[in-house]
Amino acid sequence: MAAPYDAIVIGGGHNGLVAAAYLARAGARTVVLEARHKAGGAATTDSPWPDAPEFKVTRLSYVMSLMPPTIIRDLRLASHGYKVYPMGPYYQAFPEGGSIRLYADDARRNHESVARWSKRDADAMPRWDAWLAGLADVLGPLLLTVPPRLGSRRPRDLAGTLRLAWRHRGLDVRTIADVTRLMTMSIADLLDDWFESPQVKGALAVNGVIGTWAGPFSPGTAYVMAHHSIGDVGDGHLGNWGFPEGGMGAVAAAIEAAARGFGAQIRLGARVARVLVEGGRAAGVTLDGGEEIRARTIVSTLHPRTAFLDQVGEEHLPADFVRDIRNWKTRSGVVKINLALAELPSFTADPGTELQEHHTGSVEMAPSVEFIERAFQDAREGRPALRPFSDGVIPTSFDRTLSPEGTHIMSLFTQWVPSDWNREPHAAELEAYADRMIGLYDEVAPNFKASVLHRDIVGPYQMEHEYGLIGGNIFHGELSLEQLFHMRPAPGYADYRTPVPGLYYGSSATHAGGGVCGIPGWQAARAAIADRKAGRRGRRA
Ligand SMILES: Cc1cc2nc3c(=O)[nH]c(=O)nc-3n(C[C@H](O)[C@H](O)[C@H](O)COP(=O)(O)OP(=O)(O)OC[C@H]3O[C@@H](n4cnc5c(N)ncnc54)[C@H](O)[C@@H]3O)c2cc1C
Repeated sequence: MAAPYDAIVIGGGHNGLVAAAYLARAGARTVVLEARHKAGGAATTDSPWPDAPEFKVTRLSYVMSLMPPTIIRDLRLASHGYKVYPMGPYYQAFPEGGSIRLYADDARRNHESVARWSKRDADAMPRWDAWLAGLADVLGPLLLTVPPRLGSRRPRDLAGTLRLAWRHRGLDVRTIADVTRLMTMSIADLLDDWFESPQVKGALAVNGVIGTWAGPFSPGTAYVMAHHSIGDVGDGHLGNWGFPEGGMGAVAAAIEAAARGFGAQIRLGARVARVLVEGGRAAGVTLDGGEEIRARTIVSTLHPRTAFLDQVGEEHLPADFVRDIRNWKTRSGVVKINLALAELPSFTADPGTELQEHHTGSVEMAPSVEFIERAFQDAREGRPALRPFSDGVIPTSFDRTLSPEGTHIMSLFTQWVPSDWNREPHAAELEAYADRMIGLYDEVAPNFKASVLHRDIVGPYQMEHEYGLIGGNIFHGELSLEQLFHMRPAPGYADYRTPVPGLYYGSSATHAGGGVCGIPGWQAARAAIADRKAGRRGRRA
């Protein structure tokens, strides 16, 4: 039997590492068990081309935003190399000519850029930004709130519900209506209420469908836009996304260093097979190969189907919880395309291969809402999108650690392929899909195709089989309305505790996930530490 631990963290993604850091900081002898040869999960920097190891890509996730300053401070991440370069504007060049830029924090230049397409939209922009900022003030703090057990009459749960209501007692009728709109509307309808030009609407619609198995006309996509627009939780800035130096793997590495610094052990190549449940309580885990490791506190950060149905087992779980996890929606049809470029794209609308401002932000391929919707409809009908949309970034416009001088890395987050492409690799079709994607950029930047030195394509099958992202969903589960807040991952279990006492849950499939924000891992550790202090072992019976 292995050395005794107080706490086991299953999964060494960024949430597992955050949980381990907090547990170890609180004095728990903690071990992280990670199946892969490296920690970080979907926050990873890799060299996918063996014959060109000098190029490093941030292979899955690619930009930072939602990590609360509290976590950054508590774990002293800056001292472990955490450094984020704020991104430049959203940029879209149009096949018919011209371009648009949208700035997160420069009203004057926003107005100038948008007015080229619509004076009315340019005038509406400051009101839109203010409206979103107001909603961020409501939604931002909610991300740090432990969702109450709505509907429960138990005194402790009622107190949680009342606390939430009290905190929001200042909200007026208009704000509550706006939040309701956000939760229920499609991003397309919401944008129609504000803007008239297809160019502006296309650029603003992207955040509504990122990682989502829903087109811009689907209800609920307005909320997805808000989730991606809240920015740093805690200091209230809107949409200030940034590139971490060293790629997203450097974020995970900084958290890993913090966890080790607090005394946590991290075991790589340690795939957990089962969670041991004894006398109705979590008692430890067994690894593939049979090794048993015991501890009184376990924090799982895996996809909910893996964590509960495969590793705990239905026999230890209430039937309604099993049903909810079986029904958990976990599609997205995302394909990540990572490129090594010999030179920067020279756009017909804004020529030049020297580094310019429009290379430093999101280099979009989403010229209109209808373009995005068409891509979704293709995938819904069972075909990869003929003309996929892409949220592209060139992190090397700031971060020179990822590629040799003069060359660049471009990361294309693209959608959609059919939702069942997690079942087969579809390798040849993904190559053709990447050709089409590159062709679309080539239409607006004619040096693009020829500038591609290497390409790396990660589709849903690889996301599921290599990284444990079941169904290829980038957040361990869709950000659809029925899977948010007190329903994430299941009604009654959104407080980072589970039906099994001693087992806590802190993956992106809990409230505030997904994204590389660390909040789920932090909250799960906090719940475990609080229960330990109070002499409890987690969930009420
Ligand atoms: C293509 C893509 C793009 C994205 N872009 C962004 C972005 O730009 N910005 C952003 O904020 N978010 C982005 N996300 C989402 C974000 O990356 C995830 O929400 C987040 O990284 C998940 O972190 P996690 O720790 O909850 O889970 P994971 O990162 O999935 O970590 C789980 C860990 O568990 C390990 N594991 C699995 N099975 C076992 C087992 N049986 N035993 C032990 N270990 C196991 C896995 O190897 C993995 O390391 C993106 C995701 C993807 C896939």
